[in-house]
Amino acid sequence: MSVNNSDNKMLADIYEIKERLGKRLLILTHHYQTDQIVSLGNFAGDSFDLSQKAAFDKKAEFIIFCGVHFMAESAAILSASNQSVQIPDISAGCPMADMADIRSVKKAFFQLESIAGTGTATPIVYMNSSALIKAFCGRNKGLVCTSSNADKAFEYAFKRREKIFFFPDEHLGKNTADKLCIASELVILWDCSRKLGGNKAEDIKKAKVIVWKGYCPIHLDFTTSQILKVRQEFSDAKIVVHPECPREVVKISDAAGSTAYIIDYVKNAAKNAAIFIGTEINLIKRLAWQYPDKKIIPLYVSSCKDMFKINLKNLIKTLKKPGEYNLVTIPDEVKKDAKKALDRMLTLA
Ligand code: SF4
Repeated sequence: MSVNNSDNKMLADIYEIKERLGKRLLILTHHYQTDQIVSLGNFAGDSFDLSQKAAFDKKAEFIIFCGVHFMAESAAILSASNQSVQIPDISAGCPMADMADIRSVKKAFFQLESIAGTGTATPIVYMNSSALIKAFCGRNKGLVCTSSNADKAFEYAFKRREKIFFFPDEHLGKNTADKLCIASELVILWDCSRKLGGNKAEDIKKAKVIVWKGYCPIHLDFTTSQILKVRQEFSDAKIVVHPECPREVVKISDAAGSTAYIIDYVKNAAKNAAIFIGTEINLIKRLAWQYPDKKIIPLYVSSCKDMFKINLKNLIKTLKKPGEYNLVTIPDEVKKDAKKALDRMLTLA
């Protein structure tokens, strides 16, 4: 990480503010943030870890969320009334989250229930979604999940209703259904631009899992041909990918799991192991630096531009106005229902 004079000045200011505010300040950083931002945080984690931290740390008055907007919104939903949540760049969004807007989701759920029957499907929304959509799930006996607990969320849902309506990530939905050995003909895709999502009524009635047509552009960069090439050139190497990657990529990898899972996979690998990883590049770079006794190699270099929007400049600007600048607020009625969906996730074993 290269540091110049103006960075030094900003770093000194950040240390001074952290020192002055002490436990009143909590800086949460997502694993896809740069090393510099992660090193300035109080806690680094994936979206599940960070939501837990936001839910259970009630000492901090000022939560600064270094990640993307939906994550900061989740922290705001879980925060207490004496806590504020800020994001250094309010425009740091998530293209996948934007693929499911509340109007289309409501319309799809209505159509689904009108064909399959009211109360037949549990809506499960990936953490990567707006507060409005989380609230919709909360109101409809649904829940939120992350890539760490999507399988548990599916099990929770199947104990209560016969179908799952999962959004907005097609790939996490299909990979989770595969993990639970649900036959692929019982998993259908819902394309909101088409009538009945592009499905026939009888297929909707038969389906166990209905997945929204949405994706993460970063994880769509990983392909089967990259994996086959690695297998040809490095026969001893292991390949681990994130479940936001397409199903065919996950199928031929050695392992697939959430960010926390990938970190553990690397940590537990033998000395000198060669591991190719299919996820966001900042995490891979950090793992390579943390485990110099292992060969950690990106399957392909793919970075999330939105995560990268958080930098020293906007972090210091935020820290200078605690509780004021780029505040993330959620209307009370949305917060109440969205919290139900998040709380159901937090109680999963
Ligand atoms: S990595 Fe993908 S899912 Fe995560 S914030 Fe970026 S675009 Fe969204």
